[in-house]
Formats: sequence, structure tokens, C-alpha cells
Amino acid sequence: MEALIIGCGFAGATVARKLAEQDIKVRMIERRNHIGGNCYDCNDEHGILIHQYGPHIFHTYSKEVYDFLSQYTKWYDYSHEVVGNVYNKIIPIPFNLNTLNIVFGEEKGNALKKELVDTYGMEARVPILELQKSDSEGIREVAEYVYQNIFLKYTMKQWEQKPEEVDQSVTARVPVLISYDNRYFQDTYQGMPEAGYTVLFENLLNHENIKIELGVDAKDVLTFDFENQKILVDGKEFNGPIVFTGAIDELFDCKLGQLPYRSLDFKFEHYDQEFYQSKGVVNYTVSEDYTRITEFKYLTGQVSDTTTIIKEYPKKYTDPKTQVPYYAILNDKNKQLHQKYVDLVKPFNNFYLLGRLAQYKYYNIDGIVLEALKFIGELL
Ligand code: UDP
Repeated sequence: MEALIIGCGFAGATVARKLAEQDIKVRMIERRNHIGGNCYDCNDEHGILIHQYGPHIFHTYSKEVYDFLSQYTKWYDYSHEVVGNVYNKIIPIPFNLNTLNIVFGEEKGNALKKELVDTYGMEARVPILELQKSDSEGIREVAEYVYQNIFLKYTMKQWEQKPEEVDQSVTARVPVLISYDNRYFQDTYQGMPEAGYTVLFENLLNHENIKIELGVDAKDVLTFDFENQKILVDGKEFNGPIVFTGAIDELFDCKLGQLPYRSLDFKFEHYDQEFYQSKGVVNYTVSEDYTRITEFKYLTGQVSDTTTIIKEYPKKYTDPKTQVPYYAILNDKNKQLHQKYVDLVKPFNNFYLLGRLAQYKYYNIDGIVLEALKFIGELL
């Protein structure tokens, strides 16, 4: 049997590897000129390892995902920390018990701490929109501070919508943390691929049954014969599994409508100094046009006298030719439009949609690897 996989990100690469190990010949096509999807990393002109498509930090609660990826990389033991720049005051993000005294002073901070711990319990993760609904005046005051200083302007920049207008799962990614833990993620396993993501992908895809073609667009390879419910590959009927991980609307020239996304402009800057900022990521939650600055050396552990940072400027996604669709905009209308594309391809029973773009979801790395492993379990 032969399989065709479209897209060389975590979804496609995980499936490719698993199929290849079952002695299935896997042909992968990728529109870009590199593997790794948006996790692709490379050295910049100054020799600093950068993430071309914005910072990607691995974290998971899943032993299955961790064990699977650990076959292809060692890990640099990195626990991600983020701080917010709030009118030049630096506070840990997510907002946690350490932040209370910085913001409210010691006496009031301690009283609020007690109330939060009594109400939610230590180590609880409370979404900001839930905290706002508290009956307690003190807790509502904390919620108001967090809303105004951490969520409102950042979310407006990122989504051009208020926190209460975006899907609740989005803001709940960054809860208020009833804890003294300053880490951004509390997952059991976290770290960065020791030699980078691209090397991880090289190892993952290094199998005699996997053949990769870069710079090849799915639209030039696939033909959908709706009448006979058959898919042609390079003009010939293809009956093996076809796993598509790209943007499903664009595959059909957006004939049912264009799926909305948020995109980003990245500005890389290099400095002749050892470090630029105090942590891997600084969120600009009340000021600036960019949402955050990431300094790669913290994430990768690279040692160098100089450093490279990246600033992220959110923007509308309007042009598939020049922009990258980074974030699905989750709401009922968009999910319904996506469902129409799912229904459109349903008659083709060897065609599968997998991944952040194809499934129109907000996946983390571990989320999509787990989904891909589950998919393979069902397919095989
Ligand atoms: N968010 C915010 N302020 C912050 C961090 C996050 O308002 O300082 C909100 C914002 O709406 C963002 C969402 O929480 O889009 C999820 O943040 P996360 O850091 O998970 O975003 P990602 O790293 O996936 O871009």
C-alpha cells in the first residue's frame, strides 16, 4: 500500500512515521521549501537558532506524546517563564500569588491571597472570565486588575476583539494561577528539542519508506472527481490513504467561502549584547503595537555573546499568497463554514483531514501529536 501525506508539520510527520513503520510507502508533499511546518527553526545570519514562524515551546501532560517524541530528540531542560510589562512594571504571567503583593502591596495582597486560596484551593487554574463573576468584592478587584492590565489590550491586539468576545477556551489558556509557580506551563513534561525542531523532524522523517517532496502544492497533485467519488493523484486514481494537513478552504479555492484566520508579522532584531531581556518572553499587555518579545537564547539554551529577539505584530489574514494563517478564529459561524468543507470531502473515504489548519483548531504541539497518534490507531 502507498499513502500520500500533505504537509510536513507535526500532524503529517507523526502519521508518516507511524505508517512507514507498518511497511507502508509514504509520499509526503510540502508546499514550503522545508520540513517542520511552523515549528521550523534555523540559524540566522549571526548563528543564533531562531524559530522562523514564532516561538514554539513543547509542554505536555501526556507520557505517550513525550515518549513518542523522545525517540527523535533529547531535551534541553527548559521551563518556560513569561513576564508582563505593565506600564514598565514587570509581573509574572500567568498572574499568580506572587503577583498579588507586587500589585496590591503586602497587607492587602496577603488578605487577597487567603481569600483566593480559601475559595479556589491551592494550584487551581481559574479563567479570568470566571474570576470576574465572583461574589467577593476582593476577588472581583483582582479580576478587574488582571482583566484591565493583562487581558484586555493584549487580546485586542491579538484578535481585534475583547476577551469576552473570543472563544472562552482561548483566554482560558492563560488562567489566573492560585499558586507560587511562576512557570507559564505546569505540564509534567516540558523542554525544547536539544538540537532544535528541524533536527527533531529530520530524525522523525528519516525512514526508508518516507519520501519527501518539497515545494510541491497539493493543488497541483490532487484532483477530486466528485461524480465518481474518486481522488486522482497526478492524474491517476489513488486508493491509499491521503492525509491532508493544510488549509482545506484553499484546497478548493475557497469555493464555499474563506475561513478566517489571524496572522502575524514578525520582526527579528539582533543585538551585540549577551541578553536583551530578563526572561524568554515578555508580554506587552498594555502598550506597544506588538504583543510580545521572545529572546530565543532562553528557549534554546544557546550560549553566545550576541542575541536575537522577535517581536510579534498581529494582523488580519487576507492574502494566502503572502501571509501565513496562524490562528483559527473560533466561533460558531466559522466552525459551521469549516464543517461545510468537511462535508464536501466526506464522500471520499480515503481522504482525511488532520491538524491545526485542516481541522480548524487551536492545537498545541502535544495536542496534535496525540491526535495524530489516535488517528493512526484508528486507521490501522
Ligand atoms: N492573553 C492575554 N494576555 C497575555 C497572555 C495571553 O490577553 O499576557 C490572551 C490572549 O487573548 C491570547 C490568549 O490569552 O491570545 C492565549 O495566550 P497564549 O499565550 O496561549 O497564546 P499563543 O502562545 O498560542 O499565541
